[in-house]
Amino acid sequence: MSDQQSTQSIFSQLGAFGHKKVVFCSDPDTNLKAIIAIHDTTLGPAFGSTRMWSYKTEGDALNDVLRLAKSMTYKCAIAGLNMGGGYSVIMGDSRRDKTEAMMRKFGRFIKNFNGEFITSEDVGTNPRDMEYIRMETEHVTGIPESIGGSGDPSPVAAQGVLMGIKACVKEQFGTDTLAGRSVIVQGVGHVGEHLVRLLRDENVKVYVSDIQEERVGQIAKKYGAERVSNNSIFDIDADIYAPCALGGTVNTETINKLKCSIIAGSANNQLLDEAEHGTVLLDKGILFAPDYVINAGGIINCYSELMHFSKKRTMQLTENIYEVTRNILKLSKLENISTIDAANKIAEKRISDIKKVKSSY
Ligand code: NAD
Repeated sequence: MSDQQSTQSIFSQLGAFGHKKVVFCSDPDTNLKAIIAIHDTTLGPAFGSTRMWSYKTEGDALNDVLRLAKSMTYKCAIAGLNMGGGYSVIMGDSRRDKTEAMMRKFGRFIKNFNGEFITSEDVGTNPRDMEYIRMETEHVTGIPESIGGSGDPSPVAAQGVLMGIKACVKEQFGTDTLAGRSVIVQGVGHVGEHLVRLLRDENVKVYVSDIQEERVGQIAKKYGAERVSNNSIFDIDADIYAPCALGGTVNTETINKLKCSIIAGSANNQLLDEAEHGTVLLDKGILFAPDYVINAGGIINCYSELMHFSKKRTMQLTENIYEVTRNILKLSKLENISTIDAANKIAEKRISDIKKVKSSY
């Protein structure tokens, strides 16, 4: 591919997603290769986590960060937060390549945004990394509680996912009691583990899978869950599939295999193709809880840190995910549109309403 072609393809991607700004961060001294994407700042500064992942290609990293940044715009809008959407990705293996110097250098890149971008942890990063970023810039949340932050947002994210699951169970089964239901949790990392714990406490039959063999064994033992291999998760006859790893796991191939009637998990961008797969799920009667709606607990926790909200208020906002999800399901039914389209409609309306408020005086 020529330089001109690759530049055009990057700009066409930005145009397609409607992003405002994308910054490529390179620092050979610390081996940092990162991309920071700002999607929309109508509601406030762009809020977005930092993911560290071994992307196969730079194109994969760019695609991921653009999709994630856009979904943050919608997530903040629908959760009622006064924040815009952004995201950042660092290319590399977090267990092998991450160093204090790399994270601090990354913090300096964030500092250059002068508050237009604020980050927190995600896959491959943790509160300690946020502490390193904090040494270079104040525009970071999710720093350890011991130094005044709100700590790891994943327990709150899991609580929000549980609320989303309950809202969907109410819709499909007429009750939001989870006892006796069965859930497949794919990916038992930070959020996945907390979700497994919450589901166990509700007397749910839980199946767990993860690409880390040792981890999945530990979680299964700790919470009395049943371990299943990654290849066989779609063969399990469970009520709910909860994707808690990476995105794109809901696609033509997996939808054809799925036996569950609800998809509700923490992973961002679960639908490989939002329009196509959202509609296929609607037609098949499989209820999809829009990911950015039900996984908003993490960002609510970070927002609360910025706004100095109490823990009680943070949990109230997170528990409200039940009502927000119920409203989306109602709109989907009323207008016979996919749940993701219904969620997008509500989020876009809030952004456009607030844009008008801000442009008036
Ligand atoms: P994590 O890195 O702690 O956990 C992810 C887990 O998924 C790991 O154990 C990993 O081995 C596993 N995994 C990766 N690919 C897999 C695959 N193909 N099959 C099965 N398992 C696989 O990440 P996390 O913080 O728990 O986040 C999980 C998802 O939830 C991500 O998509 C993230 O963006 C989203 N999310 C996280 C938060 C949060 O507060 N951490 C908040 C909102 C959304």
